[in-house]
Amino acid sequence: MAIVEWLSDAPAEPRRWQTRSPATLEPLESWEAARPEDVRAAVERARKAQREWAAAGFAERARRLRRALRVLLAREAEFAATIERETGKPAVEILSSELLPAADAIEFYAKRAKRVLADRTLPLHLLKSKKLKLVYKPLGVVGIITPWNFPFILALNPTVQALAAGNGVVLKPSEATPATGRLVEALFREAGLPDGLVACAVGDGATGAALVEAGVDKVSFTGSERTGRKIAEACGRALIPCTLELGGKDPMIVCADADVERAAAGAVYGAFANAGQVCVSTERVYVVDAVADEFVRRVVEHTGRLRQGSGGEADVGPMIWAPQLDVVERHVEDARRRGAHVLTGGRRNPRYEGLYYEPTVLVDVDHDMLVMREESFGPLLPIMRVRDEAEALRLANDSGYGLNASVWSRDKRRGAELARAIESGCAVVNDCLVTYGIAESPFGGVKASGIGRVNGDMGLKGYCHVQSIVVDRFGAKSELLWFPYEARKVRWLRRLLHFVWGTPIGRWLS
Ligand code: NAD
Repeated sequence: MAIVEWLSDAPAEPRRWQTRSPATLEPLESWEAARPEDVRAAVERARKAQREWAAAGFAERARRLRRALRVLLAREAEFAATIERETGKPAVEILSSELLPAADAIEFYAKRAKRVLADRTLPLHLLKSKKLKLVYKPLGVVGIITPWNFPFILALNPTVQALAAGNGVVLKPSEATPATGRLVEALFREAGLPDGLVACAVGDGATGAALVEAGVDKVSFTGSERTGRKIAEACGRALIPCTLELGGKDPMIVCADADVERAAAGAVYGAFANAGQVCVSTERVYVVDAVADEFVRRVVEHTGRLRQGSGGEADVGPMIWAPQLDVVERHVEDARRRGAHVLTGGRRNPRYEGLYYEPTVLVDVDHDMLVMREESFGPLLPIMRVRDEAEALRLANDSGYGLNASVWSRDKRRGAELARAIESGCAVVNDCLVTYGIAESPFGGVKASGIGRVNGDMGLKGYCHVQSIVVDRFGAKSELLWFPYEARKVRWLRRLLHFVWGTPIGRWLS
Protein backbone atom coordinates (compact mmCIF):
# COMPACT_ATOMS: atom_id res chain seq x y z
CA MET A 1 0.00 0.00 0.00
CA ALA A 2 1.21 3.47 -0.86
CA ILE A 3 2.45 5.69 1.95
CA VAL A 4 1.58 8.68 -0.20
CA GLU A 5 -1.93 8.43 -1.58
CA TRP A 6 -3.24 11.18 -3.84
CA LEU A 7 -6.81 12.16 -3.05
CA SER A 8 -7.33 14.78 -5.73
CA ASP A 9 -4.96 15.39 -8.56
CA ALA A 10 -7.15 17.52 -10.82
CA PRO A 11 -5.21 20.43 -12.35
CA ALA A 12 -7.90 23.00 -11.47
CA GLU A 13 -8.06 22.24 -7.73
CA PRO A 14 -5.40 22.32 -5.05
CA ARG A 15 -3.93 18.83 -5.15
CA ARG A 16 -4.40 16.84 -1.95
CA TRP A 17 -2.76 13.75 -0.61
CA GLN A 18 -2.76 11.60 2.46
CA THR A 19 0.20 10.10 4.24
CA ARG A 20 0.22 6.72 5.96
CA SER A 21 2.48 5.22 8.58
CA PRO A 22 5.06 2.98 6.91
CA ALA A 23 5.10 0.87 10.09
CA THR A 24 1.38 0.19 10.36
CA LEU A 25 -0.09 1.58 7.12
CA GLU A 26 -2.59 3.56 9.21
CA PRO A 27 -3.64 6.87 7.69
CA LEU A 28 -1.84 9.86 9.21
CA GLU A 29 -2.78 13.26 7.83
CA SER A 30 -4.02 14.83 4.65
CA TRP A 31 -2.14 17.65 2.95
CA GLU A 32 -2.63 20.26 0.28
CA ALA A 33 0.24 20.69 -2.16
CA ALA A 34 1.61 24.21 -2.47
CA ARG A 35 0.86 25.58 -5.95
CA PRO A 36 3.50 27.40 -7.99
CA GLU A 37 1.99 30.76 -6.95
CA ASP A 38 2.15 29.75 -3.27
CA VAL A 39 5.79 28.80 -3.70
CA ARG A 40 6.63 32.08 -5.43
CA ALA A 41 4.89 34.02 -2.66
CA ALA A 42 6.91 32.10 -0.02
CA VAL A 43 10.14 32.95 -1.86
CA GLU A 44 9.14 36.63 -1.99
CA ARG A 45 8.34 36.71 1.75
CA ALA A 46 11.63 34.97 2.53
CA ARG A 47 13.45 37.52 0.37
CA LYS A 48 11.97 40.45 2.30
CA ALA A 49 12.79 38.83 5.65
CA GLN A 50 16.28 37.94 4.45
CA ARG A 51 17.35 41.58 4.17
CA GLU A 52 16.71 42.13 7.86
CA TRP A 53 18.37 38.81 8.71
CA ALA A 54 21.50 39.53 6.67
CA ALA A 55 21.77 43.00 8.23
CA ALA A 56 21.50 41.53 11.74
CA GLY A 57 25.10 40.28 11.56
CA PHE A 58 26.76 37.11 12.80
CA ALA A 59 26.40 37.65 16.54
CA GLU A 60 22.67 38.34 16.46
CA ARG A 61 22.07 35.49 14.01
CA ALA A 62 24.01 33.13 16.29
CA ARG A 63 21.95 34.28 19.26
CA ARG A 64 18.71 33.50 17.50
CA LEU A 65 19.95 30.20 16.15
CA ARG A 66 20.79 29.21 19.72
CA ARG A 67 17.23 30.06 20.66
CA ALA A 68 16.19 27.52 18.05
CA LEU A 69 18.46 25.03 19.80
CA ARG A 70 16.60 25.68 23.06
CA VAL A 71 13.26 25.15 21.29
CA LEU A 72 14.59 21.88 19.86
CA LEU A 73 15.66 20.66 23.29
CA ALA A 74 12.37 21.70 24.87
CA ARG A 75 10.29 19.96 22.20
CA GLU A 76 12.53 16.99 21.39
CA ALA A 77 10.04 14.33 22.57
CA GLU A 78 7.30 15.81 20.44
CA PHE A 79 9.65 16.12 17.45
CA ALA A 80 10.74 12.51 17.92
CA ALA A 81 7.09 11.39 17.98
CA THR A 82 6.38 13.13 14.67
CA ILE A 83 9.46 11.61 13.06
CA GLU A 84 8.54 8.19 14.39
CA ARG A 85 4.97 8.51 13.12
CA GLU A 86 6.10 9.37 9.61
CA THR A 87 9.07 7.00 9.33
CA GLY A 88 8.65 4.21 11.91
CA LYS A 89 12.32 4.59 12.87
CA PRO A 90 13.66 2.96 16.03
CA ALA A 91 13.99 5.35 18.97
CA VAL A 92 17.81 5.19 19.03
CA GLU A 93 18.02 6.18 15.37
CA ILE A 94 15.67 9.13 15.81
CA LEU A 95 17.97 10.44 18.50
CA SER A 96 21.31 9.43 17.03
CA SER A 97 20.75 10.42 13.43
CA GLU A 98 18.03 13.08 13.51
CA LEU A 99 17.98 15.02 16.80
CA LEU A 100 21.56 14.85 18.08
CA PRO A 101 23.10 15.90 14.75
CA ALA A 102 20.46 18.64 14.51
CA ALA A 103 21.47 20.07 17.88
CA ASP A 104 25.12 19.76 16.89
CA ALA A 105 24.55 21.49 13.54
CA ILE A 106 22.78 24.46 15.14
CA GLU A 107 25.51 25.02 17.74
CA PHE A 108 28.36 24.26 15.33
CA TYR A 109 27.32 26.73 12.63
CA ALA A 110 26.12 29.36 15.10
CA LYS A 111 29.60 29.27 16.62
CA ARG A 112 31.56 28.95 13.42
CA ALA A 113 29.92 31.16 10.81
CA LYS A 114 31.55 34.38 11.99
CA ARG A 115 35.07 32.95 11.79
CA VAL A 116 34.59 31.14 8.47
CA LEU A 117 32.72 33.93 6.72
CA ALA A 118 34.50 36.96 8.17
CA ASP A 119 36.03 39.38 5.64
CA ARG A 120 39.62 38.49 4.83
CA THR A 121 42.46 40.64 3.62
CA LEU A 122 45.05 38.74 1.61
CA PRO A 123 48.59 39.87 0.86
CA LEU A 124 49.32 39.79 -2.86
CA HIS A 125 52.26 37.90 -4.27
CA LEU A 126 52.78 40.31 -7.15
CA LEU A 127 50.85 43.54 -7.18
CA LYS A 128 52.18 44.88 -3.90
CA SER A 129 50.52 48.24 -4.52
CA LYS A 130 47.06 46.66 -4.09
CA LYS A 131 45.20 45.05 -1.26
CA LEU A 132 42.73 42.23 -1.75
CA LYS A 133 39.70 41.84 0.45
CA LEU A 134 37.36 38.83 0.25
CA VAL A 135 33.80 39.42 1.37
CA TYR A 136 31.32 36.56 1.85
CA LYS A 137 27.83 37.70 1.01
CA PRO A 138 24.67 35.67 1.49
CA LEU A 139 23.11 34.46 -1.75
CA GLY A 140 19.56 35.56 -0.89
CA VAL A 141 16.93 32.82 -0.74
CA VAL A 142 17.92 29.17 -0.92
CA GLY A 143 15.51 26.46 -2.09
CA ILE A 144 16.10 23.26 -0.14
CA ILE A 145 14.57 20.04 -1.46
CA THR A 146 14.85 16.92 0.66
CA PRO A 147 14.07 13.19 0.69
CA TRP A 148 12.24 10.98 3.20
CA ASN A 149 15.04 8.86 4.64
CA PHE A 150 16.31 11.38 7.23
CA PRO A 151 13.47 13.86 6.94
CA PHE A 152 14.54 16.08 9.84
CA ILE A 153 18.32 16.33 9.70
CA LEU A 154 18.56 16.52 5.91
CA ALA A 155 16.17 19.49 6.01
CA LEU A 156 17.52 21.13 9.14
CA ASN A 157 21.23 20.91 8.44
CA PRO A 158 21.27 22.81 5.12
CA THR A 159 18.70 25.23 6.55
CA VAL A 160 20.97 26.07 9.50
CA GLN A 161 23.97 26.56 7.23
CA ALA A 162 22.03 28.79 4.87
CA LEU A 163 20.68 30.83 7.80
CA ALA A 164 24.06 31.15 9.53
CA ALA A 165 25.40 32.62 6.29
CA GLY A 166 22.55 35.16 6.23
CA ASN A 167 20.12 33.61 3.76
CA GLY A 168 16.39 32.93 3.78
CA VAL A 169 15.10 29.43 3.06
CA VAL A 170 12.13 27.82 1.37
CA LEU A 171 12.11 24.12 2.14
CA LYS A 172 10.29 21.47 0.12
CA PRO A 173 10.31 18.24 2.13
CA SER A 174 9.42 14.84 0.73
CA GLU A 175 5.71 14.22 0.22
CA ALA A 176 6.16 11.14 2.47
CA THR A 177 7.29 13.23 5.46
CA PRO A 178 5.65 16.68 5.30
CA ALA A 179 4.90 16.90 9.03
CA THR A 180 8.59 16.48 9.82
CA GLY A 181 9.46 19.16 7.25
CA ARG A 182 7.02 21.52 8.95
CA LEU A 183 8.89 21.02 12.23
CA VAL A 184 11.88 22.83 10.74
CA GLU A 185 9.71 25.84 9.88
CA ALA A 186 8.09 25.78 13.34
CA LEU A 187 11.46 25.55 15.09
CA PHE A 188 12.78 28.77 13.58
CA ARG A 189 9.48 30.61 13.84
CA GLU A 190 9.33 29.84 17.54
CA ALA A 191 12.93 30.94 17.94
CA GLY A 192 11.88 34.38 16.76
CA LEU A 193 13.57 34.51 13.37
CA PRO A 194 11.99 37.11 11.05
CA ASP A 195 8.56 36.13 9.85
CA GLY A 196 8.70 34.14 6.61
CA LEU A 197 12.50 33.77 6.67
CA VAL A 198 12.13 29.98 6.80
CA ALA A 199 9.10 28.63 4.99
CA CYS A 200 8.07 25.08 4.26
CA ALA A 201 6.17 24.43 1.03
CA VAL A 202 4.76 20.92 1.12
CA GLY A 203 4.02 18.95 -2.01
CA ASP A 204 5.50 16.47 -4.43
CA GLY A 205 7.88 16.74 -7.37
CA ALA A 206 5.71 19.37 -9.05
CA THR A 207 6.04 21.61 -5.99
CA GLY A 208 9.80 20.96 -5.93
CA ALA A 209 10.05 21.87 -9.62
CA ALA A 210 8.05 25.05 -8.94
CA LEU A 211 10.50 25.97 -6.17
CA VAL A 212 13.48 25.64 -8.50
CA GLU A 213 11.76 28.06 -10.88
CA ALA A 214 10.44 30.46 -8.25
CA GLY A 215 13.37 32.86 -8.33
CA VAL A 216 15.55 31.26 -5.64
CA ASP A 217 19.26 32.02 -5.67
CA LYS A 218 20.49 28.48 -5.10
CA VAL A 219 19.05 24.99 -4.83
CA SER A 220 20.35 22.57 -2.26
CA PHE A 221 19.00 19.19 -3.31
CA THR A 222 19.22 15.83 -1.60
CA GLY A 223 17.56 12.92 -3.35
CA SER A 224 17.79 10.49 -6.21
CA GLU A 225 20.06 10.68 -9.22
CA ARG A 226 17.04 10.80 -11.51
CA THR A 227 15.58 13.91 -9.86
CA GLY A 228 19.06 15.40 -9.42
CA ARG A 229 19.54 15.46 -13.18
CA LYS A 230 16.23 17.31 -13.64
CA ILE A 231 17.18 19.85 -10.96
CA ALA A 232 20.59 20.41 -12.57
CA GLU A 233 18.90 21.10 -15.92
CA ALA A 234 16.42 23.53 -14.37
CA CYS A 235 19.18 25.31 -12.42
CA GLY A 236 21.22 25.50 -15.60
CA ARG A 237 18.32 27.22 -17.36
CA ALA A 238 17.86 29.65 -14.46
CA LEU A 239 21.66 30.07 -14.17
CA ILE A 240 21.68 29.47 -10.44
CA PRO A 241 24.06 27.22 -8.49
CA CYS A 242 23.00 23.94 -6.98
CA THR A 243 24.47 21.25 -4.80
CA LEU A 244 23.26 17.76 -5.62
CA GLU A 245 23.54 15.11 -2.92
CA LEU A 246 22.44 12.01 -4.75
CA GLY A 247 22.48 8.26 -4.43
CA GLY A 248 25.29 5.83 -3.82
CA LYS A 249 26.35 2.20 -4.09
CA ASP A 250 28.95 2.28 -1.37
CA PRO A 251 31.56 -0.46 -1.36
CA MET A 252 33.15 -2.01 1.71
CA ILE A 253 36.55 -3.65 1.39
CA VAL A 254 37.52 -6.20 4.02
CA CYS A 255 41.28 -6.79 3.87
CA ALA A 256 43.07 -9.98 4.84
CA ASP A 257 44.36 -8.32 8.02
CA ALA A 258 41.01 -6.85 9.11
CA ASP A 259 39.64 -7.23 12.61
CA VAL A 260 36.97 -9.59 11.33
CA GLU A 261 34.64 -9.21 14.30
CA ARG A 262 34.61 -5.40 14.04
CA ALA A 263 34.26 -5.57 10.28
CA ALA A 264 31.31 -7.99 10.49
CA ALA A 265 29.51 -5.92 13.13
CA GLY A 266 30.27 -2.79 11.07
CA ALA A 267 28.94 -4.37 7.89
CA VAL A 268 25.67 -5.26 9.61
CA TYR A 269 25.32 -1.75 11.00
CA GLY A 270 26.37 -0.11 7.73
CA ALA A 271 23.86 -2.13 5.71
CA PHE A 272 20.86 -2.28 8.04
CA ALA A 273 20.90 0.98 10.02
CA ASN A 274 17.86 3.02 9.04
CA ALA A 275 16.72 -0.17 7.26
CA GLY A 276 19.44 0.41 4.67
CA GLN A 277 17.92 3.73 3.64
CA VAL A 278 21.06 5.79 4.07
CA CYS A 279 22.71 7.42 1.08
CA VAL A 280 26.00 6.08 2.50
CA SER A 281 24.69 2.62 3.42
CA THR A 282 27.10 -0.22 2.87
CA GLU A 283 25.60 -1.54 -0.37
CA ARG A 284 28.20 -4.13 -1.44
CA VAL A 285 31.03 -5.94 0.32
CA TYR A 286 34.28 -7.29 -1.14
CA VAL A 287 35.95 -9.60 1.32
CA VAL A 288 39.36 -11.11 0.72
CA ASP A 289 39.27 -14.90 0.42
CA ALA A 290 41.52 -15.54 3.43
CA VAL A 291 38.93 -14.14 5.89
CA ALA A 292 35.73 -14.56 3.87
CA ASP A 293 34.29 -17.64 5.62
CA GLU A 294 34.76 -16.22 9.08
CA PHE A 295 33.45 -12.81 8.01
CA VAL A 296 30.28 -14.25 6.46
CA ARG A 297 29.63 -16.48 9.47
CA ARG A 298 29.88 -13.53 11.84
CA VAL A 299 27.75 -11.29 9.61
CA VAL A 300 24.97 -13.90 9.60
CA GLU A 301 25.22 -14.27 13.39
CA HIS A 302 24.97 -10.53 13.96
CA THR A 303 22.10 -10.22 11.51
CA GLY A 304 20.22 -13.01 13.28
CA ARG A 305 20.26 -11.00 16.49
CA LEU A 306 18.58 -7.92 14.99
CA ARG A 307 15.07 -7.13 16.19
CA GLN A 308 12.77 -5.70 13.58
CA GLY A 309 10.03 -3.28 14.58
CA SER A 310 9.27 0.36 15.16
CA GLY A 311 10.15 2.77 18.01
CA GLY A 312 11.18 1.34 21.42
CA GLU A 313 14.08 -1.06 21.37
CA ALA A 314 13.74 -2.24 17.77
CA ASP A 315 16.97 -2.32 15.73
CA VAL A 316 15.64 -2.30 12.18
CA GLY A 317 12.59 -0.26 11.25
CA PRO A 318 10.36 -0.39 8.19
CA MET A 319 11.18 0.97 4.80
CA ILE A 320 9.61 4.38 4.40
CA TRP A 321 8.70 4.55 0.74
CA ALA A 322 6.71 1.71 -0.85
CA PRO A 323 8.26 2.00 -4.35
CA GLN A 324 11.71 1.54 -2.73
CA LEU A 325 10.54 -1.74 -1.24
CA ASP A 326 9.65 -2.84 -4.78
CA VAL A 327 13.23 -1.99 -5.85
CA VAL A 328 14.62 -4.12 -3.01
CA GLU A 329 12.41 -7.07 -3.95
CA ARG A 330 13.44 -6.74 -7.60
CA HIS A 331 17.14 -6.74 -6.67
CA VAL A 332 16.80 -9.87 -4.53
CA GLU A 333 14.72 -11.62 -7.19
CA ASP A 334 17.27 -10.79 -9.89
CA ALA A 335 20.17 -11.96 -7.70
CA ARG A 336 18.44 -15.26 -6.88
CA ARG A 337 17.65 -15.89 -10.53
CA ARG A 338 21.30 -15.36 -11.46
CA GLY A 339 22.62 -17.78 -8.85
CA ALA A 340 23.06 -15.79 -5.62
CA HIS A 341 22.20 -17.42 -2.31
CA VAL A 342 20.21 -15.75 0.44
CA LEU A 343 21.70 -16.69 3.81
CA THR A 344 19.15 -14.84 5.87
CA GLY A 345 16.09 -12.69 5.14
CA GLY A 346 15.14 -12.31 1.50
CA ARG A 347 11.47 -11.52 2.06
CA ARG A 348 9.01 -9.08 3.57
CA ASN A 349 8.60 -9.64 7.27
CA PRO A 350 5.37 -11.68 7.54
CA ARG A 351 4.79 -10.53 11.14
CA TYR A 352 3.97 -6.99 10.05
CA GLU A 353 1.44 -5.21 7.89
CA GLY A 354 3.84 -2.32 7.26
CA LEU A 355 6.77 -1.94 4.89
CA TYR A 356 9.17 -4.27 6.68
CA TYR A 357 11.75 -6.16 4.65
CA GLU A 358 13.94 -8.57 6.58
CA PRO A 359 17.64 -7.76 6.86
CA THR A 360 19.07 -9.84 4.03
CA VAL A 361 22.53 -11.28 3.52
CA LEU A 362 23.41 -12.51 0.03
CA VAL A 363 26.47 -14.44 -1.14
CA ASP A 364 27.64 -15.82 -4.50
CA VAL A 365 26.86 -12.47 -6.06
CA ASP A 366 28.64 -11.00 -9.08
CA HIS A 367 28.85 -7.68 -10.88
CA ASP A 368 26.13 -8.53 -13.41
CA MET A 369 23.50 -8.49 -10.70
CA LEU A 370 21.35 -5.43 -10.04
CA VAL A 371 22.13 -5.72 -6.34
CA MET A 372 25.79 -4.95 -7.09
CA ARG A 373 25.17 -2.23 -9.66
CA GLU A 374 22.07 -0.19 -8.79
CA GLU A 375 21.30 1.57 -5.55
CA SER A 376 19.09 -0.75 -3.47
CA PHE A 377 18.47 1.73 -0.62
CA GLY A 378 17.10 -1.03 1.58
CA PRO A 379 18.24 -3.71 4.03
CA LEU A 380 20.39 -5.79 1.67
CA LEU A 381 23.99 -6.87 2.24
CA PRO A 382 25.49 -8.63 -0.79
CA ILE A 383 28.93 -10.10 -0.09
CA MET A 384 31.40 -10.97 -2.81
CA ARG A 385 34.52 -13.01 -2.16
CA VAL A 386 37.65 -11.66 -3.89
CA ARG A 387 41.20 -12.93 -4.38
CA ASP A 388 42.97 -9.91 -2.87
CA GLU A 389 42.70 -6.18 -2.14
CA ALA A 390 43.63 -5.26 -5.70
CA GLU A 391 40.60 -7.12 -7.05
CA ALA A 392 38.44 -5.56 -4.34
CA LEU A 393 39.61 -2.09 -5.37
CA ARG A 394 38.99 -2.74 -9.06
CA LEU A 395 35.43 -3.90 -8.32
CA ALA A 396 34.80 -1.08 -5.84
CA ASN A 397 35.59 1.40 -8.60
CA ASP A 398 33.49 -0.45 -11.16
CA SER A 399 30.42 1.65 -10.39
CA GLY A 400 28.57 4.64 -11.76
CA TYR A 401 28.33 6.01 -8.20
CA GLY A 402 30.98 7.43 -5.88
CA LEU A 403 29.53 8.72 -2.62
CA ASN A 404 31.20 6.94 0.29
CA ALA A 405 33.25 3.77 0.86
CA SER A 406 34.84 1.89 3.71
CA VAL A 407 38.08 -0.07 4.09
CA TRP A 408 38.71 -2.43 6.97
CA SER A 409 42.32 -3.26 7.86
CA ARG A 410 44.44 -3.41 11.02
CA ASP A 411 47.09 -1.45 9.11
CA LYS A 412 45.54 2.02 9.22
CA ARG A 413 48.08 3.49 6.83
CA ARG A 414 47.45 0.84 4.22
CA GLY A 415 43.71 1.25 4.86
CA ALA A 416 43.95 4.97 4.19
CA GLU A 417 45.95 4.32 1.02
CA LEU A 418 43.28 1.98 -0.27
CA ALA A 419 40.57 4.46 0.71
CA ARG A 420 42.38 7.13 -1.28
CA ALA A 421 42.39 4.91 -4.36
CA ILE A 422 38.60 4.57 -4.25
CA GLU A 423 36.70 6.90 -6.58
CA SER A 424 34.38 8.49 -4.01
CA GLY A 425 33.67 11.83 -2.38
CA CYS A 426 34.13 10.35 1.11
CA ALA A 427 35.73 7.25 2.57
CA VAL A 428 36.11 5.75 6.01
CA VAL A 429 38.70 3.39 7.50
CA ASN A 430 37.47 0.83 10.03
CA ASP A 431 34.07 2.47 10.42
CA CYS A 432 31.05 3.32 8.30
CA LEU A 433 28.19 5.84 7.87
CA VAL A 434 29.87 8.46 10.07
CA THR A 435 30.93 11.13 7.60
CA TYR A 436 27.69 13.11 7.30
CA GLY A 437 27.57 13.41 11.10
CA ILE A 438 31.06 14.93 11.28
CA ALA A 439 30.26 18.59 10.91
CA GLU A 440 33.81 19.56 9.94
CA SER A 441 33.88 17.16 6.99
CA PRO A 442 32.84 18.28 3.54
CA PHE A 443 30.30 15.76 2.30
CA GLY A 444 29.33 14.86 -1.26
CA GLY A 445 29.93 12.54 -4.15
CA VAL A 446 31.69 12.05 -7.45
CA LYS A 447 30.29 10.47 -10.64
CA ALA A 448 26.50 10.06 -10.43
CA SER A 449 26.51 10.65 -6.67
CA GLY A 450 26.34 14.37 -7.09
CA ILE A 451 27.86 17.76 -7.55
CA GLY A 452 29.37 20.00 -4.88
CA ARG A 453 29.99 19.54 -1.19
CA VAL A 454 27.84 20.30 1.82
CA ASN A 455 28.78 20.73 5.51
CA GLY A 456 31.82 22.16 7.19
CA ASP A 457 33.51 25.38 6.17
CA MET A 458 33.13 24.48 2.52
CA GLY A 459 29.39 23.94 2.93
CA LEU A 460 28.95 27.28 4.71
CA LYS A 461 30.87 29.11 2.00
CA GLY A 462 28.60 27.42 -0.53
CA TYR A 463 25.73 29.52 0.82
CA CYS A 464 27.60 32.72 -0.04
CA HIS A 465 29.05 34.33 -3.05
CA VAL A 466 32.48 35.64 -2.47
CA GLN A 467 33.09 39.16 -3.65
CA SER A 468 36.67 40.14 -4.20
CA ILE A 469 37.44 43.80 -3.56
CA VAL A 470 40.82 45.10 -4.71
CA VAL A 471 41.92 48.37 -3.13
CA ASP A 472 44.77 50.51 -4.44
CA ARG A 473 47.12 51.31 -1.57
CA PHE A 474 49.14 54.35 -2.65
CA GLY A 475 46.93 56.53 -4.85
CA ALA A 476 49.56 57.44 -7.47
CA LYS A 477 48.40 59.69 -10.32
CA SER A 478 48.79 56.90 -12.84
CA GLU A 479 49.68 53.21 -13.09
CA LEU A 480 52.38 51.59 -15.11
CA LEU A 481 49.90 49.63 -17.20
CA TRP A 482 47.57 52.52 -17.98
CA PHE A 483 47.74 54.59 -21.16
CA PRO A 484 49.76 55.75 -22.96
CA TYR A 485 51.34 52.57 -24.35
CA GLU A 486 54.94 53.42 -25.17
CA ALA A 487 57.94 51.53 -26.47
CA ARG A 488 59.72 51.94 -23.12
CA LYS A 489 56.78 50.19 -21.40
CA VAL A 490 57.15 47.25 -23.76
CA ARG A 491 60.87 47.05 -22.92
CA TRP A 492 60.16 47.35 -19.23
CA LEU A 493 57.44 44.67 -19.21
CA ARG A 494 59.66 42.31 -21.18
CA ARG A 495 62.43 42.78 -18.62
CA LEU A 496 59.93 42.18 -15.84
CA LEU A 497 58.74 38.97 -17.52
CA HIS A 498 62.26 37.58 -17.72
CA PHE A 499 63.28 38.73 -14.27
CA VAL A 500 60.24 37.56 -12.27
CA TRP A 501 59.68 34.21 -13.93
CA GLY A 502 63.10 33.58 -15.48
CA THR A 503 65.40 33.97 -12.45
CA PRO A 504 65.48 32.09 -9.15
CA ILE A 505 65.35 35.31 -7.14
CA GLY A 506 62.42 36.61 -9.20
CA ARG A 507 60.47 33.39 -8.69
CA TRP A 508 61.28 33.52 -4.98
CA LEU A 509 60.05 37.10 -4.72
CA SER A 510 56.81 36.43 -6.61
P1 NAD B 1 13.60 11.77 -4.94
O1 NAD B 1 14.61 12.27 -5.87
O2 NAD B 1 12.49 10.95 -5.46
O3 NAD B 1 12.91 12.96 -4.13
C1 NAD B 1 13.67 13.90 -3.40
C2 NAD B 1 12.89 15.19 -3.30
O4 NAD B 1 12.79 15.77 -4.60
C3 NAD B 1 11.47 15.03 -2.80
O5 NAD B 1 11.15 16.12 -1.96
C4 NAD B 1 10.65 15.09 -4.08
O6 NAD B 1 9.31 15.50 -3.90
C5 NAD B 1 11.44 16.11 -4.88
N1 NAD B 1 11.25 16.04 -6.32
C6 NAD B 1 10.86 14.99 -7.09
N2 NAD B 1 10.84 15.36 -8.41
C7 NAD B 1 11.23 16.64 -8.47
C8 NAD B 1 11.46 17.57 -9.54
N3 NAD B 1 11.25 17.24 -10.80
N4 NAD B 1 11.88 18.82 -9.22
C9 NAD B 1 12.12 19.17 -7.94
N5 NAD B 1 11.93 18.34 -6.89
C10 NAD B 1 11.51 17.08 -7.14
O7 NAD B 1 14.40 10.97 -3.80
P2 NAD B 1 13.80 10.17 -2.57
O8 NAD B 1 13.21 8.89 -3.07
O9 NAD B 1 12.95 11.08 -1.76
O10 NAD B 1 15.12 9.86 -1.73
C11 NAD B 1 15.93 8.75 -1.91
C12 NAD B 1 17.19 9.14 -2.66
O11 NAD B 1 17.87 10.18 -1.97
C13 NAD B 1 18.20 8.00 -2.73
O12 NAD B 1 18.72 7.92 -4.03
C14 NAD B 1 19.28 8.42 -1.75
O13 NAD B 1 20.55 7.89 -2.00
C15 NAD B 1 19.25 9.90 -1.91
N6 NAD B 1 19.86 10.54 -0.75
C16 NAD B 1 21.06 11.15 -0.91
C17 NAD B 1 21.69 11.73 0.19
C18 NAD B 1 23.03 12.41 0.05
O14 NAD B 1 23.37 13.20 0.93
N7 NAD B 1 23.81 12.15 -0.98
C19 NAD B 1 21.08 11.70 1.44
C20 NAD B 1 19.86 11.05 1.55
C21 NAD B 1 19.25 10.49 0.45
